[in-house]
Amino acid sequence: MNERMVIVGAGQAGLQIAESLRAEGFDGSIELLAGEKSPPYQRPPLSKAWLQGDLPEERLFLRGAEALAAKNIDLRLGAVVTEIDRAGKAVRLANGSSRTYSGLALATGARARRPALPGADLAGVCVLRDMADAREISHRMDAATHLVVIGGGFIGLEVAATARKRGLPVIVIEALDRLMARAVTPRLSTFFADVHRARGVDLVFGAQVSALEGRDGAVSAVMTAAGRKFPADLVILGIGALPNDELAAAAGLEVARGIVVDSCGRTSDPHVVAAGDCTVFRRDDGKMLRLESVQNAVEQGKAAAAALLGHRKPFEATPWFWSDQYEFKLQMAGLSEGFDVCVERPGGEKAFSLFYYRDGRLIAVDSVNRPGEHLLARKLLDAGVSPDPALAADPANDLRILLR
Ligand SMILES: Cc1cc2nc3c(=O)[nH]c(=O)nc-3n(C[C@H](O)[C@H](O)[C@H](O)COP(=O)(O)OP(=O)(O)OC[C@H]3O[C@@H](n4cnc5c(N)ncnc54)[C@H](O)[C@@H]3O)c2cc1C
Repeated sequence: MNERMVIVGAGQAGLQIAESLRAEGFDGSIELLAGEKSPPYQRPPLSKAWLQGDLPEERLFLRGAEALAAKNIDLRLGAVVTEIDRAGKAVRLANGSSRTYSGLALATGARARRPALPGADLAGVCVLRDMADAREISHRMDAATHLVVIGGGFIGLEVAATARKRGLPVIVIEALDRLMARAVTPRLSTFFADVHRARGVDLVFGAQVSALEGRDGAVSAVMTAAGRKFPADLVILGIGALPNDELAAAAGLEVARGIVVDSCGRTSDPHVVAAGDCTVFRRDDGKMLRLESVQNAVEQGKAAAAALLGHRKPFEATPWFWSDQYEFKLQMAGLSEGFDVCVERPGGEKAFSLFYYRDGRLIAVDSVNRPGEHLLARKLLDAGVSPDPALAADPANDLRILLR
């Protein structure tokens, strides 16, 4: 057999697919096509430790070309795929070449959303998605005097925290009435708003940015629809990401704000799988779920690699995520949406966990500076074990015994 796997995108998901194919025993050819010019690297530190100067750049890399070569994985840097020909089982690249495949994996990730605002293309208006973005922001932070972050989500707030540590005055403008509103409950939004305010961040809620003003081609102020003007020589747009699903859509694969996959990473074409930020997952109950996280990229990547080889290894584990802001580590296990009961388990100074229940069943746990409790929560959720809320709320109770 002359089996040939082609993977488009060499981020967290693409790398995982390549390595999992080998781990599953595949010994045919694997080509990993990286649109970027760097070997696979981790993105989370770009808004955290790396931006603070606490992590050397080489530690960003997940795997070097040599480590991949040792597994006989052919990494091609700067290899941008422009078209998928499903009938001919081939992909075409921007450099005019093409590759045939017996199995194709799409791991094209997402890109930062840029609003169609006047002035959004001025110098000093930045997004944060890749290493080049992070380098530019870090460089500009050295000289900036007024940073405005548009969007009070995870990335915007992590950048705000880093900028405060670097001594920059920071204003965060958020359209909604609380921070991280799409991902966390009001209790956590309030906690983190207090944290940011206490460290000097000016939070502006319910404000729609209407334009960015410039002087000599560089941003000088952020305007809101209500007529407020915030001076700025550096603006970070932290208003979410869009899945890179256009290649898949043009090839006729099912796409719905992401490439539609099942729990095994399978698309509507049996020869094509997808994983990571470029996907949207159709759950068994028909609901569509889009997760943008390292865990999702890794676990979907494993499932997708298995599916390419005809094995069934669905990704069913509890979703989890984290965010670092100042000395606070927020860790989230499960999805709290739709909870009807929430109890707080105190964990000492500046530390606690929130346990969320729906219809008497534990559905999620958010922890602040309680890493052990986060790990335990994942185990409880994976095992479908629901501690009684009163039991969970009392830190004197050891919840580990519930897993024995
Ligand atoms: C600043 C930042 C902080 C984050 N912090 C956290 C965190 O704390 N915790 C967490 O869980 N997650 C975090 N995330 C999210 C996490 O990094 C992503 O969910 C994860 O990287 C997704 O991996 P991926 O492989 O799907 O996509 P990506 O990492 O985006 O990789 C996709 C790759 O595909 C390439 N590509 C796209 N189109 C093509 C093409 N046509 N041809 C070839 N290559 C192509 C892209 O250039 C890119 O290199 C963060 C993300 C960012 C940007």
